Amino acid sequence: MGDAHLEPMEANIKDYVALATAANGQIRALAVVNTDIVDEVRHRHQMWPVATAALGRTMAATAMLGAMQKGKEKVTVQIIGDGPLEQIIADADGEGNLRGYVQNPHVDVPHAEQSKLNVKKAIGAGHLWVIRDLGLGEPYRGGVPLVSGEIAEDFANYFARSEQTPSAVALGVLVGVDYRVRASGGLILQLLPDASEGIAIMLEHMVMDLPPISRLIDSGSTPEEIIEQAIGELQPKYLHRLPLRFTCSCSRKRCESALIALGVAELEALIKEQGEAELTCRFCQEQYRFTKEELEALRAQIHRDQPTQ
Ligand SMILES: [Zn+2]
Repeated sequence: MGDAHLEPMEANIKDYVALATAANGQIRALAVVNTDIVDEVRHRHQMWPVATAALGRTMAATAMLGAMQKGKEKVTVQIIGDGPLEQIIADADGEGNLRGYVQNPHVDVPHAEQSKLNVKKAIGAGHLWVIRDLGLGEPYRGGVPLVSGEIAEDFANYFARSEQTPSAVALGVLVGVDYRVRASGGLILQLLPDASEGIAIMLEHMVMDLPPISRLIDSGSTPEEIIEQAIGELQPKYLHRLPLRFTCSCSRKRCESALIALGVAELEALIKEQGEAELTCRFCQEQYRFTKEELEALRAQIHRDQPTQ
């Protein structure tokens, strides 16, 4: 702990990813706290607890995937299941921008054993997809069928099968009785190519002995302290600390492009039938209104740009 090379954090940013190597480079370790961001999303969508738990876990893993990328390289995670949540989407980049939403934020399912939120039931059977956009044209897309539906194990399965990297993943969200997020975050431990078999076995035991991540965060643990708790004996060396922020890339300009993309006939119908348009961003719930005159101006713009239509 207390590595002298780390840049000082802005005092009030509790949400960040810590990245380390351990056991002389045989292990890569990432840990994240994303409590405040998940609570902001929870508030924006007025989410119910099981949806919040599913989204918080997904966003924790996505933030760590983002921290493995460089700069503006973006990672999108999509979990599509046949349960009532239907779909979870989160994206993050190497600069710490993070956002996400669930298709149906108002979902309730019977609790699992010990009154735990039943994320598995809310998601159902389906797939986990990871899309990496490195800004080089066609994004890389990999996916696996869901093996558990509790998300952490599904990411471990994704790393093993799709990226050939044996990994242990722990994710946790604690939702209060008032529906607010008390704690959210996660841990990813990965065996790097030259890891010995002994280290692999040791890692497995260390992860099994780890208290629930949400409890560690609820009692005030930082990402570095989570890594210390998990693999402190393996002498982690901290490489990077990435502060996270909730950012949405939506804008009025993007909405205009979407309306233009409808084409003249669709836009015409919209003007005639509704006389206005209101677009809501699925990620941040920001609303963009367009009056009849503004829609007519967009229609005129299509005529100007594509005079043959
Ligand atoms: Zn938005």
